[in-house]
Amino acid sequence: MAEIDVATNGVPRVRNCGAMEVHERLLRTDPRYVRARIASENAHFELTRLGLVNGRPDVTVIPTVVHVVWKTAQENIDEAQIRSQIEVLNKDFRKTNSDIGSIPGAFAALAGDARVQFTLATTDPDGNATNGITRTQTDKGSFTDDEAVKSSATGGADAWPTDRYLNLWVCSLDGGLLGYAQFPGGPAATDGVVIRNTAFGTNGTSAAPFNLGRTATHEIGHWLNLRHIWGDDGGGCNGDDFVADTPNAADANSGKPTFPHVTCSNGPNGDMFMNYMDYTDDDSMFMFTIGQVARMQACLSSDRPTIGVQDPIRPWPVVRRGARDFPVRPLQHLLLARGRQVAVDGIFGPNTEAAVKAFQTASGLASDGVVAAMTWARMIIAVSNGSTGSAVKAVQEVMKVRDPSPEAVKIDGIFGPKTEGFVRGFQQSVGLTADGIVGPITWRAMVSGMPSV
Ligand SMILES: [Zn+2]
Repeated sequence: MAEIDVATNGVPRVRNCGAMEVHERLLRTDPRYVRARIASENAHFELTRLGLVNGRPDVTVIPTVVHVVWKTAQENIDEAQIRSQIEVLNKDFRKTNSDIGSIPGAFAALAGDARVQFTLATTDPDGNATNGITRTQTDKGSFTDDEAVKSSATGGADAWPTDRYLNLWVCSLDGGLLGYAQFPGGPAATDGVVIRNTAFGTNGTSAAPFNLGRTATHEIGHWLNLRHIWGDDGGGCNGDDFVADTPNAADANSGKPTFPHVTCSNGPNGDMFMNYMDYTDDDSMFMFTIGQVARMQACLSSDRPTIGVQDPIRPWPVVRRGARDFPVRPLQHLLLARGRQVAVDGIFGPNTEAAVKAFQTASGLASDGVVAAMTWARMIIAVSNGSTGSAVKAVQEVMKVRDPSPEAVKIDGIFGPKTEGFVRGFQQSVGLTADGIVGPITWRAMVSGMPSV
């Protein structure tokens, strides 16, 4: 995309991100990733279709670990530089950045609060206190986008469990590469974001024009499933970032463009080059859009259901072979809704297990036959008044458990006023917005916190 352009002091002059190279490599080499990407996009479209763009009800706080991988003392950046980066993220992802007023008036109303915050982890994977920073001395002068920095076997640092932590690796990178990220659905061991140490934070070794911490904002946008705003089609007008409120644009913008920059007949306002997902300088990007926020929230619901979840009262339950009754019956209805043949008998036996494994394989998940957070998040189908079919029957099975009087519930697969009334009452009783729509958050509350025999 953008040419490699490095000043004599080794600092890139033009933004260049490796996320699409990583994406294309995984598409070529990892069939499970291909299936996971399709499942991810389908889940996003399902949520968007039902208007479930609000996502998690609260601000999501993501425990973050920074792995500093260094050879020279200068590369071993100090804690102040790391903290300055977290500060930037917490402003950019909450729409409280001080340069928000620089958005051109034509786009200002589109800016969105992503409702995501980041905090350096205070507990490590073994349960010990930590400052959320690891330091690894390496004999490698610099790294590429080949993932070597993410493994101790190849001169880097191993990831902390990627279903609980956002992993950020900070190191020297070859050529003009500022950073790269892995979209949701890739291998767990490499899930996270790599950032060049001269483009990290706002002080220490950070260097203009990438010294305002926006490389991490951009890369974490990818980690939360955002695409480049121009659609990565090599300058054409057919690429899509799968977000409706970003203008169609031809190619990456770099440097400090002047408004408006019209391409792809997108006048009079032109490209949204001040978006974090373009390639402009740090001091020239100021916003995510409301549509991008919806996509990131859909990612948290469907792709990263365990990240930043602070609510231990209502986790997704873990259901495996041998389980009986609730929530096996709702699960079996959901399997039917996903096209798997299984009897609704409330017994998690070999047939149910085989159906779960087949669903997991088709969805790009580890095929272990155990239904935990990732499998639930992929399997549920959002339903509301007017919906029909097995997913509605699954909701009605939940109703039956909570109100078992025979006249109370008919498992007919028709989401009418009675089902809606139940859903609203249930939502109210557990402190959720009583909108009558069974989306990811309501599903999680429904299948958890109930007796599982
Ligand atoms: Zn990028």
